[in-house]
Amino acid sequence: MATSPFYPPQRILMGPGPSDVSPRVLQAMARPTLGHLDPLFVEMMDEVKGLLQYAFQTQNELTMPISAPGSAGMEACFANLVEPGDKVIVCQNGVFGGRMKENVERFGGTAIMVMDDWGKPVDPEKVEAALKAHPDTKILAFVHAETSTGVRSDAKLLTELAHQYGCLVIVDAVTSLTGSELRVDAWGIDAIYSGTQKCMSCVPGLSPVSFGSRAVDVIKTRKTKIQSWFLDMSLIMGYWGGGTKRAYHHTAPVNTLYALHEALVMVQAEGLENAWARHQHHHQALKAGLEAMGIRFVVEEAARLPQLNLITVPEGVDEAAVRARLLNEYSIEIGAGLGALAGKVWRIGLMGHACNTKNVLICLGALDAVLSSLQAPIESGVAVGAAQAFYQA
Ligand SMILES: *Cc1c(COP(=O)(O)O)cnc(C)c1O
Repeated sequence: MATSPFYPPQRILMGPGPSDVSPRVLQAMARPTLGHLDPLFVEMMDEVKGLLQYAFQTQNELTMPISAPGSAGMEACFANLVEPGDKVIVCQNGVFGGRMKENVERFGGTAIMVMDDWGKPVDPEKVEAALKAHPDTKILAFVHAETSTGVRSDAKLLTELAHQYGCLVIVDAVTSLTGSELRVDAWGIDAIYSGTQKCMSCVPGLSPVSFGSRAVDVIKTRKTKIQSWFLDMSLIMGYWGGGTKRAYHHTAPVNTLYALHEALVMVQAEGLENAWARHQHHHQALKAGLEAMGIRFVVEEAARLPQLNLITVPEGVDEAAVRARLLNEYSIEIGAGLGALAGKVWRIGLMGHACNTKNVLICLGALDAVLSSLQAPIESGVAVGAAQAFYQA
């Protein structure tokens, strides 16, 4: 039995999430726990709602964090909006579209799949063909930023298409929120969920969600009871809804909500547009270094996510051994490929607090050193200089 405390080492988290948490956020978590109905805590909850509305760029009243990770936000959207017999068009171009399909089916709906290759964005033409072929579709669901492949799909265009055909949209923004341009109201997104551990510099464990008026009407006029008690938004609103009368629903993860509040205060201070630009800027520097080394990006430039870089493993290199050395010798975590891409690619995250000049240079230097020592077919000793040249230009 363990009798001593657990002291984790200080890693540099440059994988698909969780990403490095700001020390300010970690300190916020250590503040005294309040009762979850304490008036001062309730005041802070209202601030979290307002700050989340800013991060999502929405006026939606029904905007709040679900007390569980991103997967629970996903489940909340499908549980509340899908009724038995409903048709949902699900776009899949990586891991997370597959989970949306699971959700639709578990809530009694029929999933119509629009498949695109891993590494490609969702094809709007295929989506339009599916909408035409299934005029009784209720919802179009897609992933804005596919973390498994580093691909951004055109959320604005896909939402417009869905509305043309009388459908609602459910958007997965777990990796896009505060890392890439995202405008819930301007783009007309009906239901959206995210996670705190990707681009928000926050700890894992919460899932911000937002529902627009069309989605709220659908929830209010359901014929069947929502199958999940915990994720029933009408019950959650009894606790998170406005006003002074709050009813106990579940014990809020009080200290984790301090963390989210702190992270969102930091997003507001930086400015959302500046946060998006920072992710793009450091992605460009990382790209300059990797390309100088001779490492290629898999995703076409227009669809690349700055916060998740999918790159090819050089010929003859054991990708898992390289990741293990980066972790053990440099304390850097990067991600492996999934599915059909396993063994062939790495995923380098530049998310939130981890997205900075120091990490770009350290990661390039470490990767260069490990690959060079393995005599991998790369250009040795040039990556850091190329990134520095980008920063100095
Ligand atoms: C990480 C992630 C999720 C799941 O979030 P968890 O917090 O791990 O439950 C869902 N969708 C995407 C696109 C993600 O990157």
